Formats: sequence, structure tokens, C-alpha cells
Amino acid sequence: MKLSDVRHWVFDMDGTLTVAVHDFAAIRVALSIPPEHDILTHLAALPADEAATKHAWLLEHERDLAQGSKAAVGAVELVRELAGRGYRLGILTRNARELAHVTLQTIGLADCFAEEDVLGRDEAPPKPHPGGLLKLAEAWDVAPSEMVMVGDYRFDLDCGRAAGARTILVNLADNPWPELTDWHAEDCMALRRMLSA
Ligand SMILES: [Mg+2]
Repeated sequence: MKLSDVRHWVFDMDGTLTVAVHDFAAIRVALSIPPEHDILTHLAALPADEAATKHAWLLEHERDLAQGSKAAVGAVELVRELAGRGYRLGILTRNARELAHVTLQTIGLADCFAEEDVLGRDEAPPKPHPGGLLKLAEAWDVAPSEMVMVGDYRFDLDCGRAAGARTILVNLADNPWPELTDWHAEDCMALRRMLSA
């Protein structure tokens, strides 16, 4: 399959469409989470009231980050080109859906994604679980093999593979995970060029 034949695209948000701004080490310190623990998994295991307090802190912290979002190199042009071709576009993020919308508005892409096609941490199990991609496949009535998952981290690639979708790694000069990757582009500008090649 050629890249331009793929008409169903799902993007990770942070570090893929935006310049990564999350300081996960600082978040762990602020919430007393051990360095080696996954943040969302750690919060899920806490007593309900402590988890609620810390989730609230995280949401406020992430809202500030979302309002200061900057688009990654070539991301706006790439997404606009795909939308202009009439392709179906979605977002699968570990961020909250509400903040994903704030981010898309801030970088000027909110009109390219249907609201129900933006899946945050309350709409889908966290990547690398394939549930979010499979949910979009069902909503779009398309086989996962006709979809591509675009991301900047191994969880995005694992998620794509587990769902049976194609995968694209962006925003890394070198690809540490070639066995998980169908296409690799150093940024979204290069990816857009590959689309037209
Ligand atoms: Mg990312």
C-alpha cells in the first residue's frame, strides 16, 4: 500500500502535532509519583479521593500547557492537506479530550477533526492498548489495515501494530523501532513530501 492510498489517519497529539512540552519528571515530583511509574497507571491505583485531587491538579497543569501549545514543524500543513483530500482524521491521545480541543484550537486545526473522532484518556484505554484505534475503525466502518497511526513514541507504534493498522513514526531523526514502523519521517513536513512522492 502506498502512503497516499491510506485515507484514514489517526494522530497522537503531544510531540506529534505539537512540540512536546510535558515535563513528565516535574509532574511526577509534583504528584509524588516514583520516577519509574507510569503517571496514569499510578493515579488509577490510588484511593479515590487522592486520585481525584491529583487528576484535578494534572488537568489544570495540562490546561496551561494546552493554551501555550505550538504546532510541530509541518504539522498544520500536513493535516490541512489530508483534510483537503477528504481523508478521515482522528486523534488518539493520553491527554484529556477537552484539552485536546484546546490544543487543536490553539494551533489552528480544530476544524479538521470531528469532535467525536478525538479520543482522550476518558474515551479510550491508554496506548499502547489498541482500543482507541479499534473504536475509530468501527465508527468509520473501515478495516484497521486501511488506517495509519502517526506518532512520535513507541506506544503509538505498538498501538498501531496491536490494532492491525499501519504505523508512521515522526519527529525523530533516527528510528529506534524499525520493526514497528511502516513509514518514518523526520518531521511532518517530510511526511507531507512523502505523501506527494
Ligand atoms: Mg507523543
